[in-house]
Amino acid sequence: MSEFDLIAKYFTRQSRRSDVLLGVGDDAAVLQVSANRRLVAAVDTIVAGVHFPIGTDAAAIGHRALAVNLSDMAAMGAEPSWITLSLSLPSNDAQWLEGFSTGLFALADRYNVALVGGDTVRGPLSITIQVMGWVETDRWLTRGGAKPGDAIFISGIPGEAAAGLAAIQRSLPSAASELLTQRFLLPEPRVLLGRAIRSHASAAIDVSDGLLADLAHICSMSGCGANIELESLPQSHAMPGLFAAQECEQLALCGGDDYELLFTVPSERIVAVKAAIAAGVRCTPIGLMVEGSGVTCYRAGHAVPMTVRGYDHFAELR
Ligand code: ADP
Ligand code: MG
Repeated sequence: MSEFDLIAKYFTRQSRRSDVLLGVGDDAAVLQVSANRRLVAAVDTIVAGVHFPIGTDAAAIGHRALAVNLSDMAAMGAEPSWITLSLSLPSNDAQWLEGFSTGLFALADRYNVALVGGDTVRGPLSITIQVMGWVETDRWLTRGGAKPGDAIFISGIPGEAAAGLAAIQRSLPSAASELLTQRFLLPEPRVLLGRAIRSHASAAIDVSDGLLADLAHICSMSGCGANIELESLPQSHAMPGLFAAQECEQLALCGGDDYELLFTVPSERIVAVKAAIAAGVRCTPIGLMVEGSGVTCYRAGHAVPMTVRGYDHFAELR
């Protein structure tokens, strides 16, 4: 199978979107951009052995490569529209490509996202997706808008994805760890939640590096601090059977890969935001933004020392 056969067979599909004027097959895509909207763009790469274990199911890799990008749109309050896909593949393995494209398009179809172009090269397994979407004029969310007094919310159950990765790496019994490994392999981007909170939240970020590390980004970009009540963290039902209590807390605070939304809401907007998200994913208030800087965790009213260590690709190897 040649490069061109491969693109034609696995990555060329008739788009259902009328704003794709020219899709896969020419030198570039041509897209209809609406007036009164802002174009929002992001790109993310996932690499075998870095972002997912070598040998991960191809459909899960396709899902995950797109999910991490849709999650960035969610954190902006944006609606995703189009993606481009740059693939570096060790070989033209038909079975792998079938699985990968099935996983990718299943998620793309759910969010009505069109694949409009890309690049295909031979090399170590690595997948880059660029996503483009839109927000209403002046309605995008940033990491920088939080103010002292704003409540901090987290969607879903932080730590489950990192627990799933640990379960894979330690070959923990599969029945007990099934839900957790799914959370790692098939993260659900919180696109609808991002759309629902965009008029109410003061700041938002998606949790890829860990709750504390990503909250620290909101703090530094917003010029304030954050206090977290450890008792209020949402508890996983699946984790305690497999991990000790202390490790559960560590995973919830520092584990990455959740792709949940962490967002702040001014007190006068809390009723409105709760109404806006009522039907969707569970969101839990876990603390307050405060004057100062950095994240402080409290247990029973007392500050607890924590080492915040999010994932850093270029941190000194320890
Ligand atoms: P060029 O040499 O002009 O960059 P390519 O041969 O790389 O063209 O690609 C041919 C067409 O196929 C282009 O429209 C490109 O966007 C598309 N394409 C290539 N690889 C992919 C892919 N993995 N997914 C989607 N479209 C792709
Ligand atoms: Mg090319």
